[in-house]
Amino acid sequence: MSPNATPPVASSLIAPPLGHALPSYLQADNLGPWGIYLQQVDRVIPYLGHLARWAETLKRPKRALVVDVPIQLDNGTVAHFEGYRVQHNTSRGPGKGGVRFHQDVTLSEVMALSAWMSIKNAAVNVPYGGAKGGIRVDPKALSRGELERMTRRYTSEIGIIIGPTKDIPAPDVNTNEQVMAWMMDTYSMNQGATATGVVTGKPVDLGGSLGRRDATGRGVFTVGMEAAQHIGLDVVSARVAVQGFGNVGGVAARLFAQTGARVVAVQDHGGTIYQASGLDVPALQAHVAATGSVAGFPQAEVIANDTFWDVDCDILIPAALEQQITAANAGRIKARMIIEGANGPTTPAADDILQERGILVLPDVIANAGGVTVSYFEWVQDFSSYFWSEDEINARLVRIMKEAFSGVWQVAQDHKVSLRTATFIVACKRILHARELRGLYP
Ligand code: GLU
Repeated sequence: MSPNATPPVASSLIAPPLGHALPSYLQADNLGPWGIYLQQVDRVIPYLGHLARWAETLKRPKRALVVDVPIQLDNGTVAHFEGYRVQHNTSRGPGKGGVRFHQDVTLSEVMALSAWMSIKNAAVNVPYGGAKGGIRVDPKALSRGELERMTRRYTSEIGIIIGPTKDIPAPDVNTNEQVMAWMMDTYSMNQGATATGVVTGKPVDLGGSLGRRDATGRGVFTVGMEAAQHIGLDVVSARVAVQGFGNVGGVAARLFAQTGARVVAVQDHGGTIYQASGLDVPALQAHVAATGSVAGFPQAEVIANDTFWDVDCDILIPAALEQQITAANAGRIKARMIIEGANGPTTPAADDILQERGILVLPDVIANAGGVTVSYFEWVQDFSSYFWSEDEINARLVRIMKEAFSGVWQVAQDHKVSLRTATFIVACKRILHARELRGLYP
């Protein structure tokens, strides 16, 4: 063996991934998100050629930090929250990915979300690795002051591993521009200098980028339009059903409605509404902004939550949380195409059922990459202190999304695999090629 050659990895030396009992994840449909991710990686290993020898790199996070986040509540008592920041991979550049505040967040979920960021960032070829963070908390139960104190303490605690060239957080479920402003300020105060590039998704007046707020939804819409052309689906007469009506689902619904598509059903945490002739999306957005959910929207019929999966539609957009489309409902879905606005909404068993039924799934790791793509633009603008117009940003976003999608589409055709497997093939090759070029240290 030449001195520079890397020894093969001995499988007997490989510990099981963190927090995971070994082989059960390979069969069960009720996998946790990390188990789902591992299964997705296993599916691409046969397509990685010589890079497969590095595949174990993808199956464990590079670094995972769990932090205690104590804050004083408004009533004077002290509450402790559990926070996480996981850097799954940094072979291609700094860690990058959002921070979510949700009562169900766990370390293994954040590990999976960080890994999906590695895949997503490589799939659209932005120069980042993958990372994610979260706090296990119901932010709706906190006052604004409590939310700010929690955000600041969390940022301080993860401050040892984040930074504009190390790992760059961004918004995700239940975090927004204000939360990013607090994170940026806290990091900057600790550093003694304003560091706008430490987070993306900031307010435009604080180094944020035009177009960032709509970017994920716009990316969902862009790849949806591209895929519709490939399968001969006429979007103008299409019926669309959307789960989740926040920053992703709401924007995607608006853009599809603007092309003439009918948004017939919307589900969120407050309930499910239906209108066969098409919902008035701007009116629904105003209702949600005022009341916090789609519940009580006057110009629609209320249907049972589980009925959402039976709705007659052509395009289904899950844009809420993980593991929504499972073996239990995949057989009932009527759509021709599913565009994953959420991260991890479809289980591998559901993926197989959908593929067998000829329903095209545009996977999260390409479909919702618009957000991080404009995050990248924001970071570049912050570094150069030169800001672009919204038209320029949207044009660059659309170009990147279209190019990435057409590359993945070709790989899917060449290997006769699903678009998810094709995206993983493209992304894993990029990550592992970088990994191979860098070599093992020491
Ligand atoms: N949270 C978003 C995602 O899941 C955006 C991440 C980012 O902009 O860094 O892709």
